[in-house]
Amino acid sequence: SLDIVPRQMEEARELLQKVYGYQDFREGQKKIVASVLEGRDTLGIMPTGGGKSICYQIPALMMQGLTLVISPLISLMKDQVDALTTMGVAAAYINSTLSGKEVNERIRAAKRGELKLLYVAPERLELDWFRAEMSELGISCVAVDEAHCVSQWGHDFRTSYLAIAPFVRELPNRPIVAAFTATATPEVTEDILKLLRLQEPEVFVTGLGRNNLAMSVLRGENKREFIMQYAANHTHQSGIIYAATRKEVDDLYERLVRQGLSAGRYHAGMSDQERAAMQEAFLYDDVRIMVATNAFGMGIDKSNVRYVIHYNMPKNMEAYVQEAGRAGRDGEPSECILLFSPQDIMTQKFLIEQNPQDSERKHNEYRKLQQMTEYCYTNRCLRNAMLDYFGEQHEDQPCGICSSCTDERELVDMTVDAQKIFSCIHRLRERFGVGVVASVLKGSRNKKVLQYGFDRLPTYGMMSERTEKDISEQINMLVAEGYLALSEGQYPVVRLQQMAAEVLKGKRQVMQRVVRTVSQAASART
Ligand code: ADP
Ligand code: ZN
Repeated sequence: SLDIVPRQMEEARELLQKVYGYQDFREGQKKIVASVLEGRDTLGIMPTGGGKSICYQIPALMMQGLTLVISPLISLMKDQVDALTTMGVAAAYINSTLSGKEVNERIRAAKRGELKLLYVAPERLELDWFRAEMSELGISCVAVDEAHCVSQWGHDFRTSYLAIAPFVRELPNRPIVAAFTATATPEVTEDILKLLRLQEPEVFVTGLGRNNLAMSVLRGENKREFIMQYAANHTHQSGIIYAATRKEVDDLYERLVRQGLSAGRYHAGMSDQERAAMQEAFLYDDVRIMVATNAFGMGIDKSNVRYVIHYNMPKNMEAYVQEAGRAGRDGEPSECILLFSPQDIMTQKFLIEQNPQDSERKHNEYRKLQQMTEYCYTNRCLRNAMLDYFGEQHEDQPCGICSSCTDERELVDMTVDAQKIFSCIHRLRERFGVGVVASVLKGSRNKKVLQYGFDRLPTYGMMSERTEKDISEQINMLVAEGYLALSEGQYPVVRLQQMAAEVLKGKRQVMQRVVRTVSQAASART
């Protein structure tokens, strides 16, 4: 196959140019197409807009027989098939909008070998007669779109997706199964592999780190002021501002409009008509800024979004990457800015607690929130940190354009401060959270400190010259950098990690970026 695949890939590329008019595959597409052409079960994890459909459409054109595409969204199904038909590809769909007669006609066309691609909704696979018909079609590949729907961990679980694996098994010749999703969490991936029963699958995570996106995390900004300034400086560009609540959306929206800026808004509290009108206006550049909750963006394909600003930290990296990824679909330089404040962590915890769910799920959400928080505090290249989170292979090289890479503040040796923090945590027997550790180091006389007698600890007041907030921030940075870990759950406890032990033994230095306050800078000079 080593010979055949390069030759097939050449043919694949020619088809891509001839049928779609694209010059070449994107890096991730190439690997996925090659894998499918090799006859391997394949899972492609790619962000929305990454170009999943080509990954099964091109092989479909090259393989003998029919590719059956399982797709959950009736409207998208029609759009895809219309687009394919326009390009001269023999494709059809079967869903509940068709009459019985139309369905039969399409099945007959497939039987006559007149179709290369047939799109169906997953519910069809639950019908005995439909499965029987399908077994006569000579299906060489089953492409599963939105494959995360098979998982209860995902946000849109569909029972009918569970019918896919038995359906595939019943077919007279086992087809290749190629599954696609934009949801890249380890739990969902595992579920897809297991529940779709992929055989010796190749898994590709690709396209998350788009070179044109400059990622930033800004801590300690006056968020509202930042937004007003930014919007005023980018009036000729389209951008999305995500806020956590309807109230915040309304508030920001009104401020922007009052400033004479071209803004729209979108949240679940508005009527369907209002929302549709706002969405339309944004798509056609009648308004420049869309202020929205995370309800906005599903199925939106606007290519020239130049910036996505998060007014609040989202609940997890998956949500963040999906929302931020709506910037720069056209490949032009764009910005993704996350305005972080520690209050965001409290808000997200509150939301987790509000949501009735079993303890395993809750635990999982706290873990993801923790990882999201670490992203907000890290000094590492943000793109590499993000790619590592999702398990996408990448070069060691930093991106050069994220807020870590472009941070001009000097990296300062903070070993002594870190040692104070670590020994305090050790004295507290790793049984307390960030807040308590900070108040002990500060030498605060709050109730908890006095009640436990922490004012008698040798580390009490060791950092009295700094604010508790400042100390907490530094602890969080040490967490983000892996010296410390937080236990999972609503009230996480700070624990020392191997690296912290090395620091305490004087075997390792801690370098951190710090904005020096005037007094610190002064004391550093003396
Ligand atoms: P997804 O299904 O992953 O959201 P699509 O398959 O709809 O993404 O593709 C997203 C956009 O990228 C579409 O406009 C598509 O035409 C375009 N696209 C996909 N592959 C390529 C490519 N190799 N070169 C140029 N444009 C591409
Ligand atoms: Zn970077």
